[in-house]
Order: sequence, then C-alpha cells, then structure tokens
Amino acid sequence: MNADRATGSDATASTTHSSRRTFLARAAVASALPLAAGLLGAGEAQAAAVLPDYAPIPEASKGPALNDRGYFVGRIDGDLHWVTDSSYQAMFLTTRQGVVLVDAPPTIGHNLLRAIEEVTRANGRPRKVTHLVYSHSHADHIGAASIFGRDVVRIGHTETARFLRRDADPNRPAPTLTFDDHHVLQVGGERLELAYHGPNHSPDNIFVYAPKQETLMVVDVLYPGWVPFKNLAVSQDIPGWLRAHGIAMRYPWRTLVGGHLGRLGARADGHLQQRYLADLQTSVRDTVSSLDPAPFFGKYGPAGNSWAVFAAYLNAVAEQAAAPVIADYLGILAAADVFTKDNAFGLLESLRIDAGLLGPFGIRP
Ligand SMILES: [Zn+2]
Repeated sequence: MNADRATGSDATASTTHSSRRTFLARAAVASALPLAAGLLGAGEAQAAAVLPDYAPIPEASKGPALNDRGYFVGRIDGDLHWVTDSSYQAMFLTTRQGVVLVDAPPTIGHNLLRAIEEVTRANGRPRKVTHLVYSHSHADHIGAASIFGRDVVRIGHTETARFLRRDADPNRPAPTLTFDDHHVLQVGGERLELAYHGPNHSPDNIFVYAPKQETLMVVDVLYPGWVPFKNLAVSQDIPGWLRAHGIAMRYPWRTLVGGHLGRLGARADGHLQQRYLADLQTSVRDTVSSLDPAPFFGKYGPAGNSWAVFAAYLNAVAEQAAAPVIADYLGILAAADVFTKDNAFGLLESLRIDAGLLGPFGIRP
C-alpha cells in the first residue's frame, strides 16, 4: 500500500518535472528559431523537423533514477559518496572533521548541499564542507564552488590557481592550497591522493585517488558507457589526453568517477573507450591514405579559397572515418552517432599537427 502510494507520487512528480522540461526545451527551440516559428507556426512539429533524431541510449549506459530535486546521491564505498544530475558528477568523503568535496558542477549546484545533508544526517558525520578539491579550472565542473563560502580549504594544481586568478570568476575562487606534482590530503581519518601527470584535457587536470575505496576520479578523460564529448572532450593536448587513458588504467581502481553522465565506471569501461579510440584512429589513418584529395583542390583551388579546401577535405575525412566506427559502436557506447564524427575530426587534426600525418598538406614534391 505504502509502496503503491510512493510510486504514485513519484510518477506525478516526474510527470510534472518532465512537462516543465519539455516546455523549457520547446521554448528554447522556439526562441532560437524566431523566423522558422513565424513562418511555420509554433508547435512541436517543426521542432522535430529541425532537430535530428539519434539512436536510443543503451540501458547499460544509463545511471540510477534521479529524485524529484533532479539528483542522485549514492555510496561508492565506506565514507565515499558520489552525486550526479545525469550530466555531471561530483564525489565527497564524509569524515570525523567535515566533508571533503571534489568538484562543484554548477548544474548540480545547491543539490550538492542537499546530497551532503542527506548522507551526513544518516551517518551522523559533520555536514560542513571543510575541503574542496578542484579537478581542473573549468567552470562547468567547479562553477558552484562559491556556494561553499570563503571558509573552506580549496585545493588545486598550481596551474589551476593561475587560470582562476586570470579568469577572476567570483563563482570559482582560486585554490588556497596548491601543489605541483603530488599532494596527500588527510582529513578526519580519510585520505585522498592528488597527482598531476602533465597536461591532457586541460593543462591543469589532476587525478584524485581514494586508496581505501579503490576509487579514481579523473574528469573529462573517461566516459563510462558513452563516447567522449565532442572533439575528444575539447582537449587542449590530444596526445596528453590519449596518454592519460593509460595513466588512469595503471591506478588500481575498481570504481571510476568520470565527472560526466549518469553512472560510475568499471575497468571494462576504460578498456572499451581505449578500444573505441584505437579503432577510430585506425579508421582516420586509413581514410587519410585512401581518400583522393584532388576534387577538393579542383573545386576550391582555382577560386583561391584555401579555407574551403581544408573545410571540405577535413570534413570528408572525418565523416568517412567515423562511419564504420559508428556502425560498430552503436548500441554499445551511447551517442556514438552524436559525437564520433567530431571525435574523428579531433583525432585527424592531432594526427596532422602533432604526429605530422599531413596527407595532401605535406612536403611538396
Ligand atoms: Zn573540462
């Protein structure tokens, strides 16, 4: 009886939530397309016509259901917990002295406080966040740092501090404690090992390891159950980002917090992403050596439009290289049809400028 009632109220709440979401989505589409809306009349028919359809998300890529507030909080192991809004993730340790939080994604925002309150109410530990670790300087992962106030020890890499002083974003106060290579954070009987292994996704991205819980948090590198975000996670150092996969896998973790999407990672997720990237790299190399560049030069060269030569050629390589990889990974990695072409483009550009695989733009004979 109780269970029935609970199910009923959950269903109502989620209906309300999803109709609000649908409304916001429609409003966003309508405002982005004032001309189309004016010509065609408002309604979801034209929104559906404008926005592409994608393959369904595999069940194995989905995380736990969110509550009415739009978040899920769960225990990883012992006093280590994680929070997600199904798009971003943070993790926190409850200790005898206070909470150690790693990252403060703005989309989770004040739900971080609710999640911490929920966990500490149940385990009796102090709920105040005393330490905040930054994985890297990017606003989408730490842009809610300001809600924890000034009275918190903020820990980050030296470069993170430099970027944050430069950016002067009031929502991302600079770290108060910085390190260059390694830092061991011990608070109230709990331990996190922070390490810098060189530039990858960003110049300052660090690895956060919880040895007792055998959990690694490294953000914007591994995407459990999904293909990486656009252009290889918009990484600034692609060879460094690829190398970071191997570094991550050398840690003896059992659980991975990737900072994105709705679920945690297992080691098989790491191996699968490495395989996806290796397959994509092979396909890009094959396409560079097989695709005839003559038509691109022939069409745009005579008019002197160099950028059109590059745009059309690079686009064609990315599209052709992505096609077999999309076919292989659809249903295995979520959104293979959304970002594989962009990821092929990212690999192609890195193969060109980092590895010197220049294709038709190499040393002139
Ligand atoms: Zn980032």
